[in-house]
Amino acid sequence: MLSVRDVTVAFAGVRALDAVSLEARPGRILGLIGPNGSGKSTLLNVVAGAIAPDSGSVSIEAVPIPAGRPEEVAARGVARTFQIPRLARRLTVIQNMMVGRRDQPGENLLTLLFRPGASRRSERALVVDARAMLARLGLIHLADHAAGGLSGGQQKLLSMGMALMSDPPVLLLDEPAAGVNPVLVEQQIVFLKSLAAEGRTVLLIEHNMEMIADVCDDVVVLDAGTVIARGSPVDIRRNAQVMRSYLGE
Ligand code: ADP
Ligand code: MG
Repeated sequence: MLSVRDVTVAFAGVRALDAVSLEARPGRILGLIGPNGSGKSTLLNVVAGAIAPDSGSVSIEAVPIPAGRPEEVAARGVARTFQIPRLARRLTVIQNMMVGRRDQPGENLLTLLFRPGASRRSERALVVDARAMLARLGLIHLADHAAGGLSGGQQKLLSMGMALMSDPPVLLLDEPAAGVNPVLVEQQIVFLKSLAAEGRTVLLIEHNMEMIADVCDDVVVLDAGTVIARGSPVDIRRNAQVMRSYLGE
């Protein structure tokens, strides 16, 4: 279980998060919604270890994560995507997938692409894994295309696949559906449900309420750095304070 306890983060004295707590469970998708600037990405950054909170803590299976140490948090099984996909645009889709696998110490792009024959066997296994993941994502036909030539929606799917290459128990997604056409959003929905079915813990930041309602078991609503509501997607849609925060009173 992923547990966030009383997390507070201030930037230059302004509170982006104020004593936020939540829990996310294996096999479930927790939606994190709220207006722009409400602190969603900041919270994701705290969970990923990219930002050390001013107070509060994040634990996985009751063991605190090393705050502010994203590489160590990744090694604890937490993978993430970014609001704007971070890809090597000139590398192919399959090469990006192989770079996405960060669980091997000392692994980097150069050793992957140019290492000597001794490692070829594990490299082949890596390619098999990467191709299987691309097939699940509906991107296999693009395996040898430059990542930079993909549509925005395809790049978001690819960045999810890259995050999955380390087989993480916990996955954090920052607005995967933003700017993505409905057909690819549908592909994302199918994929997200399959991740939950595998028993992964998924934290999903998203503005697309259809997607939230379709895939999330539970939803937490942030507004100005505090949790203003939590419950099932149906509860949240009925909640008057949530609607006011979105519509601006
Ligand atoms: P959301 O993802 O919900 O749109 P963010 O977490 O990105 O919100 O931002 C929450 C608040 O913190 C905003 O007021 C934003 O301007 C501020 N903020 C976020 N990151 C930084 C930063 N690195 N430095 C200063 N202020 C920041
Ligand atoms: Mg954000």
